[in-house]
Amino acid sequence: MNPKPSTNRMARGAAMVLLPLLWLTLAWAKQASAAEVVAPAHVQQGALVYARVPSGSRVSYEGRSLNVTDYGTVVFGIGRDAKGVARLHVTPPGQAEQVVTVEIRPRDWPIERVNGVPPKTVSPPPDIARRIAREQKKVTAARADSNQGLGFAEHFIWPVRGRISGRFGNQRVYNGTPGSAHSGMDIAVRTGTPVKAPASGTVVLAEPDMYLTGGTVLIDHGYGVGSNFLHLSKLDVAVGDSVAQGDIIGEVGATGRATGPHLHWGMTWFSTRIDPLLVLQRGD
Ligand SMILES: [Zn+2]
Repeated sequence: MNPKPSTNRMARGAAMVLLPLLWLTLAWAKQASAAEVVAPAHVQQGALVYARVPSGSRVSYEGRSLNVTDYGTVVFGIGRDAKGVARLHVTPPGQAEQVVTVEIRPRDWPIERVNGVPPKTVSPPPDIARRIAREQKKVTAARADSNQGLGFAEHFIWPVRGRISGRFGNQRVYNGTPGSAHSGMDIAVRTGTPVKAPASGTVVLAEPDMYLTGGTVLIDHGYGVGSNFLHLSKLDVAVGDSVAQGDIIGEVGATGRATGPHLHWGMTWFSTRIDPLLVLQRGD
């Protein structure tokens, strides 16, 4: 008697039973993962955090309810000085609330001395201080609302390519006077260098001459995520314009409080400032 054919028959029989079982298991696992909350275990201060939740979930972070995309994506920002853990409250449809925690890892914030800026921009006289306050109000108002555009979920590109001459979060000292932390990333490039939209969005502010920030453009990338481009010498967009990733929005300059030509690129999640470099590094 030759046992081989019989073994083969048994193996085929087992496969006929096991393969559908395996398929069912995989299908079940896929369904289970779609019902899970996926968020990074830890992030750095200044990070923009992307998470996945079951579609139709109610989600909140620090008391603000977050909009959920059709794909179940939510996004929120971690401030420069945030500490401990970030808590995301997620209530999937028909389920109890889950609290997902994301550990916030601290960073070093070096002191950066900036000398040679015009003295009147460091300690402005009262009439200038009023103008600055007025302009700041305009910027705050432009950032208060955010649309349902999906630019925030794109892989951001550099608006200009060049040396990073100022990093996000560094403690700035202007002409020896302590100022606030650097709110964005500076890239040293020549005046006239075209600035590209790092992701698609809607232009919500386009001012050619603001006192501190000079030529200023704000883009809303949706879901609370925004970019600002400062010290521009020329603006190529107006409020209400839709821009696609890579579209030219203006040209680099040295307008406002600047010691030389560079692009200041800041990013925000509503009023929380986040680090563009971390957004660029996402998925690298
Ligand atoms: Zn800057």
